[in-house]
Amino acid sequence: MIQTLTVLGSTGSIGVSTLDVVARHPDRYQVHALTANSQVDKLLQQCLEVKPRFAVMRDEDAASQLERRLRQQGSDTHVLAGESGLVEVSGAAEVDILMAAIVGAAGLEPTLAGVKAGKKVLLANKESLVMAGDLFMQAVADNGATLLPIDSEHNAIFQCMPSSYRGIEASGIRRILLTGSGGPFRQAALDSLDAVTPDQACAHPNWSMGRKISVDSATMMNKGLEYIEACWLFDARPEQIEVVVHPQSVIHSMVEYADGSVLAQMGNPDMRTPIAHALAWPERIESGVASLDFIATSRLDFEAPCEQRFPCLRLAREAIQGAGASPAVLNAANEVAVAAFLDEQIPFTAIPKVIEQVLENASAREPISLDVVKDADQEARDLARERLARF
Ligand code: NAD
Ligand code: MG
Repeated sequence: MIQTLTVLGSTGSIGVSTLDVVARHPDRYQVHALTANSQVDKLLQQCLEVKPRFAVMRDEDAASQLERRLRQQGSDTHVLAGESGLVEVSGAAEVDILMAAIVGAAGLEPTLAGVKAGKKVLLANKESLVMAGDLFMQAVADNGATLLPIDSEHNAIFQCMPSSYRGIEASGIRRILLTGSGGPFRQAALDSLDAVTPDQACAHPNWSMGRKISVDSATMMNKGLEYIEACWLFDARPEQIEVVVHPQSVIHSMVEYADGSVLAQMGNPDMRTPIAHALAWPERIESGVASLDFIATSRLDFEAPCEQRFPCLRLAREAIQGAGASPAVLNAANEVAVAAFLDEQIPFTAIPKVIEQVLENASAREPISLDVVKDADQEARDLARERLARF
């Protein structure tokens, strides 16, 4: 039976990889909707190729432009605009699978709309789980949604866990080993980091990704967000997860069992593998990813993450240990600081400083509702913007 899919953030790195996998299986998948923030040219081209029923642009002006250009090309794809359009195509009755690949907090509500409609949700948008983990996982349980991780590490952990997973202890798991490459500055002189440029920070040694997550990988905030993401996804306590730096990005994460066995999921660093895995789960399909060449890889290295080089990792660990709304505050402050760095307003090394100051000054909140989470997010953004001026 053909399954129908909405791709949130189709013009991004994950969105493009998703459409690449989907195009290999026209007998299995058809696209209901594609969405983007404001990239008219790219969404237009995708609509002409994929012919979805709906296209959504977050930006209203961009939506009008897209509508006009689609009509000129004779396309009958309907255009919707704004967050309401994103929510509509995420929860629509005819949708089976939602790929949640918007970057940042903007992905929260559309992703939750898919969860609340009980869809099979493929989660790339880790920020939504970091912000509202408890509410998000409760919504998954309450609405019978199926949540499958796209983040390569969490997808790897999921693959290394028993299909009857019932929690860490009940499944005989000793610890989860979350691997990360250490990014482009793993070995750079510490006193050179003040002067690194956005392009240097975005030049990841192993993965090709959007700019926000690339900077997160350079600060290792990406691993910090993933640490929080793993706590929620696998119902794990922070001390049950260990971060291991593995520069080759061939092992995508590991699970260690009570008997000492360690299971690793390996493969080339190409997001089409976790995307294909989650799309077809529990079946397996072709992804277009080449076989891993063990001879060419030749060695696997591991090291402990350096706390001095990567303060963001400590900040994320403290945020999930302190919990309340701290993870939402951490995420929002990070989004503002990373955008300011990409805009060349602050140096790379100011990113953790801004976040730390925001965490120290944000009001304590219990994230009992989405409104509380949004308040925490907004306050943290305001505090972060005030701090930017000081760097
Ligand atoms: P990207 O910047 O390449 O693409 C982001 C997409 O989201 C684009 O389609 C953009 O139009 C859309 N978007 C941006 N802001 C929006 C807004 N305000 N409203 C609606 N849509 C908006 O990002 P990416 O690298 O594809 O990452 C997407 C998500 O997947 C992120 O949460 C990231 O952490 C996660 N992720 C990415 C990778 C990767 O390899 N790229 C790996 C693991 C997880
Ligand atoms: Mg990842």
